[in-house]
Amino acid sequence: MDIEVQQTLSHYINGKRISGKSGRFGDVYNPALGEVAKRVPLASAEEVRDAITAAAEAFPAWAATPATKRAQVMFNFRALIKRDMDKLARLVSSEHGKTLEDARGSITRGLEVVEFACGIAQLLKGEYSDSVAASVDSWSMRQPLGVCAGITPFNFPAMVPMWMFPIAIACGNTFVLKPSEKDPSCGFALAELMAEAGLPAGVLNVLGGDKEAVDALLTDARVQAVSFVGSTAIGERIYRIGCAHGKRVQALCGAKNHMVVMPDADLRQAADAVIGAAFGSAGERCMAVSVVVAVGDEVGDALAAALKPRVAALKVGPFDDPAAEMGPVITPAAKARIEGYIDRGVSEGAALVLDGRGCAVPGYENGCFVGGTIFDRVTPAMSIYRDEIFGPVLCIVRAGSFAEALQLVNDHEYGNGCAIFTRDGDAAREFASRAQIGMVGVNVPIPVPLAFHSFGGWKRSLFGDHHIHGPEGVRFYTRMKTVTTRWPSGIRAGAVFNFKSGGEH
Ligand code: NAD
Repeated sequence: MDIEVQQTLSHYINGKRISGKSGRFGDVYNPALGEVAKRVPLASAEEVRDAITAAAEAFPAWAATPATKRAQVMFNFRALIKRDMDKLARLVSSEHGKTLEDARGSITRGLEVVEFACGIAQLLKGEYSDSVAASVDSWSMRQPLGVCAGITPFNFPAMVPMWMFPIAIACGNTFVLKPSEKDPSCGFALAELMAEAGLPAGVLNVLGGDKEAVDALLTDARVQAVSFVGSTAIGERIYRIGCAHGKRVQALCGAKNHMVVMPDADLRQAADAVIGAAFGSAGERCMAVSVVVAVGDEVGDALAAALKPRVAALKVGPFDDPAAEMGPVITPAAKARIEGYIDRGVSEGAALVLDGRGCAVPGYENGCFVGGTIFDRVTPAMSIYRDEIFGPVLCIVRAGSFAEALQLVNDHEYGNGCAIFTRDGDAAREFASRAQIGMVGVNVPIPVPLAFHSFGGWKRSLFGDHHIHGPEGVRFYTRMKTVTTRWPSGIRAGAVFNFKSGGEH
């Protein structure tokens, strides 16, 4: 595989690459080798202020640009992503570790949001009422907010930023993106492609950074809205601080997605579904299935027996091995944390069906590889059930009935996604209606809504009122204004001091 040369990245502010001045850097790993390959500057509060100033100065002209012209930039951006798809996928994979095919798929999901944003003129259309009173008309419009900020996680370094900035910018806002410091290169590359697509300088700025940069974004009065995607502990804090500073905040957070398998399900189909959904991208997906709830011991026994040999045979390897089905996890620290959870699951008394600890890939002995791991007979009291492990670790929980399975889903603190596998329409309908979860699949293990719907969880998987992208994305990044107009028509109403009944102004 290619070994990236040691490289120091730079910020992207006001249309230019700017070297970091804080003297602080974050390590970007090559996860397959377990070695640091690049350094990213970690922005100081002053550098964050520079980026916000660039975005604030670019806002009036960009907001005044007709929506059709803003959409033109999105059409151009779409073509450039397609042109550079392989390059971008390599960038994602080399820093994240996921296979190239998986990286391409994730960029395509981001691209679909760009395609949605191409229709911004239609999406911003307001309502109009003719003659709400004599000679009085009323109409509404959606206007941009100003400077918006995006703070994104490591697991989708292209897709998650593209959930945010294309819609925010198409709506007429300007944007400061703070991608994960673990795999930031794609964020910078996307900003350069937006510039090539015709975006004026200052409309999209990208900063390397950590908590210090995030705190500066959250406390600057010029930032109107913050979109966050990441873990629950950080997201809840960001929501609270952002709201306390008067900002609109959406914080999409952690997950523990349950897949309920009913006794009447097609077990082959269910097993296929679990393997992709639990172990794809090494389990580092917020919509990964991390818990299978087997309804009845027969289902539990059959699934454990079917999954064990197939997961053991998964080919683990570096991103550019075309045979690899699962890459490494992001850093040595992530590997240690995941293996620590496997240790804990054993000591808590779960049945270890398949052990992914000590996974060695020839030629990559120091790589951050964790093999597929399966625990059976997991109980709700165990930490491997309660916590998001964010690795290739699947827990099988046994439930005695549909009602018990649904209760497990609803009692868990997270509410991002869930699925039911069944042939019974009644059970599926009941499940979809009663699950306290934001995204529900019926015989679909990862029910991620497409770009023209909105994505988001319930409970401690989302803080804020808006889901992300789709129609909710347009609502989040705009404010409604309603205008009431009267044109001179010779009517003289005189001064009016009281509200009048409907139709009189
Ligand atoms: P993370 O919370 O560690 O980091 C997310 C972002 O917050 C990064 O940009 C990081 O630099 C920043 N950050 C980290 N510590 C901070 C602090 N103390 N103060 C302010 N900002 C801080 O998350 P991660 O490990 O990069 O990503 C994995 C998590 O993201 C998982 O929990 C996963 O479920 C979640 N996720 C959720 C969704 C969703 O849509 N719900 C999607 C993708 C990922």
